[in-house]
Amino acid sequence: ECTDFDRAYFDSYAHVGIHEEMIKDHVRTETYRAAIMRHRDSIAGKVVMDVGSGTGILSIFCAFAGARRVYAVEASEIAAQAKEVVRANNLSEKIIVLHGRVEDIKIDEKVDVIVSEWMGYMLLYECMLASVIFARDKWLKPGGLILPSHATLYMAPVTHSDRYRESIDFWRDVYGIDMSAMLPLAKQSAFEEPSVETITGENVLTWPYEVKFLDCYTVEAQELESITTDYRFSSMMRAPLHGFAFWFDVEFNGPPIFASTNGLQFLPGGSYTDSYANGSSNRTKRAKSDETIVLSTAPEDDPTHWQQTLLYFYDPIEVQQDQIIEGSITLSQSKENARFLNIHLEYSSGGRSFVKESVMR
Ligand code: SAH
Repeated sequence: ECTDFDRAYFDSYAHVGIHEEMIKDHVRTETYRAAIMRHRDSIAGKVVMDVGSGTGILSIFCAFAGARRVYAVEASEIAAQAKEVVRANNLSEKIIVLHGRVEDIKIDEKVDVIVSEWMGYMLLYECMLASVIFARDKWLKPGGLILPSHATLYMAPVTHSDRYRESIDFWRDVYGIDMSAMLPLAKQSAFEEPSVETITGENVLTWPYEVKFLDCYTVEAQELESITTDYRFSSMMRAPLHGFAFWFDVEFNGPPIFASTNGLQFLPGGSYTDSYANGSSNRTKRAKSDETIVLSTAPEDDPTHWQQTLLYFYDPIEVQQDQIIEGSITLSQSKENARFLNIHLEYSSGGRSFVKESVMR
C-alpha cells in the first residue's frame, strides 16, 4: 500500500519544474535517446515498459525506435499530461499511459524491454531502483533488455577552499568584527547534511574509488538496503582535505549472454567487460568498451542536474602528497523513510580518526 512518504514523493513529481529540469538536462536526455536508438534492434516490434515515465519522453523515444507497444507507468499526477502529450503526437495506439505505481498496475502480457530513469542524487537517494527491480521480476521476459543496465557509484577525496572560505572563514572577520562565535553554527548549517553542488576535476585529490557496482539484470532490492565499503586513497597532492565527493555513471549494455569460454559477456551495444582499469590498488573505473553508452555525472564530464554530492568535514585536514586517507562508508535506507539515505562515514588520515553521520532527506 502507498505510504504518506510515497504520496509526498509522488506529489513532488506532479510539478512541471522537476520535469523541465530533467528534460533540459541534455546530457541525461540525449544519452537516453542515443541508448534507445542504439538498441533499436531489440526494441523494434517489441513491448516496452517505461518505469516512471513522467511526461512520457522516454516512452516516445521507444516508439520512435519502433516499439510495438509501450506501457508508460507513472504514479504521479503528471501522468495526465503524459497522456495528452502521447495523444498530441498521434502515439495513443502504441503508448499506453498507466497512472499508478508500477507495484500496483496490471497488464496482460510480459515485456521485452524495461527503460527507466531512476537515479537519484548519490545514485541511491529516492531508492526508485527497487521499483525497477520489482518490474523486472514481475514483467520482464527472460533475456529481456534493461536500460540502463549497470550503475556505479564513486567517491573521491576533495579540496574546496573557496567553498570553505565563503561559508566558514567569512565569519572570522565581518566588517572588522570577530564573529568566530558563529563558526560552530555555520559549520553545522553548511556541512551537517550532504550538499549537491558542482565541483571540477581540480577539486579532486586522487582517482575515485568504486563504492558500489550494480548490475540491473541481477541486483536484488535487499542489496540496496545497506551498502558498506572500505576505501583507501593516496592523495596525489598536498592540500587541505575538505571532504568527499560522490558521483555515479550508468551504462546501457544489452542483456547478458553466456559466451563459450570466458563466462558472462554482454551483447553488442554493450560488450561489457568485467575487468578493472589501470590495475591500481584503488578500485577505479572499470574498463568500458568504446561501444558502451555511458551517462556520467563525474566532475570531469559535462555537468548534469545531478551535479555531485559533497560530504564536508567540519574542519579540513591538511594532507601531504602520498598521504593515506582511509575508512569506510555505509549508505543505508532510513528506517524513518526508505526514500531517505543515511550516510555513515568513517575516515582517518595522519593518525586522526573521525566519524560523520548524516542524512540525505
Ligand atoms: N522518465 C521521465 C521521468 C523520470 S523521473 C524522464 O526521463 O523524464 C522518475 C519518475 O518516476 C517520476 O515521475 C516519479 O513519479 C516516477 N516514479 C517513481 N517511482 C515510481 C513507481 N514506483 N511507480 C510509478 N512511477 C514511479
